[in-house]
Amino acid sequence: MTNKDILSVLKQETTSVDYERFLKQLNYKKNMSDDNVAVFEVANKYIANWIKTKYTNTIQQCFETLNGSKPKIDIRLTGEKKKTKKEMVEQEKACTAESTMLNPSYTFDSFVLGPSNQMAYNASLAVSKKPGIQYNPLFIYGGTGLGKTHLLQSIGNSAIEQGKTVIYVTIEQFMNDFTFSIKSKNMEHFRDKYRKCDILLIDDIQFLSGKEQTQEEFFHTFNELHNAKKQIVMTSDRLPSQIAGLVDRLKSRFEWGLTADIQIPGLETKIAIIEKKSELNGIELTRDVINYIATNLDSSIREIEGVLIRINASANLLNQEINLELAQSLLKEQIKEQKENIKLPDIITVVAAELNIKPSDIKSRKRTAIVANARRVVIYLARELTHNSMPDIAKFLGMKDHSSISHNIKKANELIEKDENFKLIIENLKNKIINKEW
Ligand code: ADP
Ligand code: MG
Repeated sequence: MTNKDILSVLKQETTSVDYERFLKQLNYKKNMSDDNVAVFEVANKYIANWIKTKYTNTIQQCFETLNGSKPKIDIRLTGEKKKTKKEMVEQEKACTAESTMLNPSYTFDSFVLGPSNQMAYNASLAVSKKPGIQYNPLFIYGGTGLGKTHLLQSIGNSAIEQGKTVIYVTIEQFMNDFTFSIKSKNMEHFRDKYRKCDILLIDDIQFLSGKEQTQEEFFHTFNELHNAKKQIVMTSDRLPSQIAGLVDRLKSRFEWGLTADIQIPGLETKIAIIEKKSELNGIELTRDVINYIATNLDSSIREIEGVLIRINASANLLNQEINLELAQSLLKEQIKEQKENIKLPDIITVVAAELNIKPSDIKSRKRTAIVANARRVVIYLARELTHNSMPDIAKFLGMKDHSSISHNIKKANELIEKDENFKLIIENLKNKIINKEW
């Protein structure tokens, strides 16, 4: 098998831009390779990192196609010495961790800018250009489905293009990795991985809540990276100060750099996002359909994307064009289905977890301000998200009189009008319940 054979398969399997810019420069070293390892050389570290991160799996598949083998892929700089077996294993671990996690379509280019996300976008862009210098750490927070992961991975994709070593993980993966390293007594590998990168991207850091040992380990990771002027970026659904069960020294560190929020997009931004997404997915929408979706879906972009895909699939199945009528009937059906799927106990579970009280308190007779507020939130959401009548809700919560239900709903509406924080909490809860994220 020659270099030419491999390149011709790669050419078919990849985009022409990637192939012409990078992959074409791969040089297969047959005399250095064997059944287990395929060695390639390229001219510089930038190209090597880029290909490793994005195309290791594809190159492996080429070998599978050509001769049924599945060697490890070793990409070196021209003239570099042969790696030891141990180095190969380390490299392989690092590569799979990085490459499997970044979604190449999450880039700054595919992110639509608007007043609701401008600050987070600008800060992310600045960090990707000059990591470790200006905002360290960068802490991005906001409701679910509003683009936090998209921005975080845009930083990652852009940094990889610049030849930087990037680690992207959710805090849950960090935790699993940590637990696994303790069990397998391989802390050295774990620490090397997390403390020797140029940029550490941690998604959904709010789940550190209550995990004391992981917090301790993350504290040291954070300090080491920060001291070495390496960039740390985190996302969360709330501010550090509002993450219950997070030790104070982490809370304060998370606020050392810049905290930037992403809010629910306004109508114009929603329209622009729908246009961008439909263009990227080759879906043709008329102006009235775009406006209809933008005005009728109000909280999460993830939900909007789901609707676009559904509309497109239906139109294809029915072999018809996407028109307003189709959009309306699908959306109505979706809202109806959603309402049937959401149960009152689920609402209590989510609200209690978010507001940090016991689920049983909500149905109790307690009248403390915290419990009364949580009960009000449950009542409001029950009315918004389910088909239950006011008497049904009163009965479920053990309240005698359903007039207090309407009173609570009125009060909640007033708060939404004048209290930005309350509004945010409600939106966030709504998304979690609709998306079944608990
Ligand atoms: P989060 O991490 O905040 O829950 P995601 O980053 O997963 O949200 O975003 C959900 C979906 O919405 C993704 O597919 C993402 O591409 C899309 N999205 C969110 N905001 C934007 C935006 N401003 N421009 C383009 N796409 C967006
Ligand atoms: Mg996310």
